Amino acid sequence: MPAGVQCCPDGGIVQCQMPREVQAEQLVGCAQHYGVQDQRVQIPQHPVPGQFTEAEMRAAIEVAEMEGLPSAAHAHGASSIAAAVRAGITSIEHGTMADDESIRLMAQKGTFLVPTIIVSRSVLDNPHLPFPEYVLRKSRIAAARHKEVVAAALHEGVKFAFGTDAGSTGNEHGEQAREFGYLVEYGLTPMQALCSATINAAELLRMKEDIGSLEAGKFADLVAFDGDPLEDITVMTRPDLVMKGGVIYKREGQPVHFPLL
Ligand SMILES: [Zn+2]
Repeated sequence: MPAGVQCCPDGGIVQCQMPREVQAEQLVGCAQHYGVQDQRVQIPQHPVPGQFTEAEMRAAIEVAEMEGLPSAAHAHGASSIAAAVRAGITSIEHGTMADDESIRLMAQKGTFLVPTIIVSRSVLDNPHLPFPEYVLRKSRIAAARHKEVVAAALHEGVKFAFGTDAGSTGNEHGEQAREFGYLVEYGLTPMQALCSATINAAELLRMKEDIGSLEAGKFADLVAFDGDPLEDITVMTRPDLVMKGGVIYKREGQPVHFPLL
């Protein structure tokens, strides 16, 4: 992380104190690794302006596009979401408190929504975890609005991609596939949920030539399940076979151990 850029506890860039001319380039470099996010807009009772201006985001996105890179904004508040979308961001992560206008703007501009429902639901669905009452209260408000946002985004034809923000309490690495169940609970069809994690995600990453569908000439990256996720989406949490680049890493639900060379 370069001097002048502050990182928030869960990973995003929250502050950039460098001269504006050097910010854009630095931000793109950092954002490739950490993402850009604004912690303050995560408090729905106390909405505050986003931490980056539209002009700052536009400059960062412009530099990213020169490199052929997509851009992502971790954004919760409606005004920050709309500003990022107007600035040309590729995807909005979370989108928790989006309003009708910012959702319509995303549909118009072809911006992906990566809803990460698992973030708030991991707080609410894990009563054994010691979250303070104010976090629970905030999560209940956020989850209620988020459900409406997902429904409205579906109605407006916004493109969905799969993401989880894994690594926070209750939202652990290795558990990410629970997001499929939440997506279906919030209104996506099982097929839409599967496409969000495959062909749509590949389009977002600009890697459709190599990944996202099973086609000759693409990487042989695939997972197989003993069940039909179109019948029961929770099947996705129990992969039977995992193949990456044509090499099997999990078979019959068990890791394959390779001999040390
Ligand atoms: Zn985030």
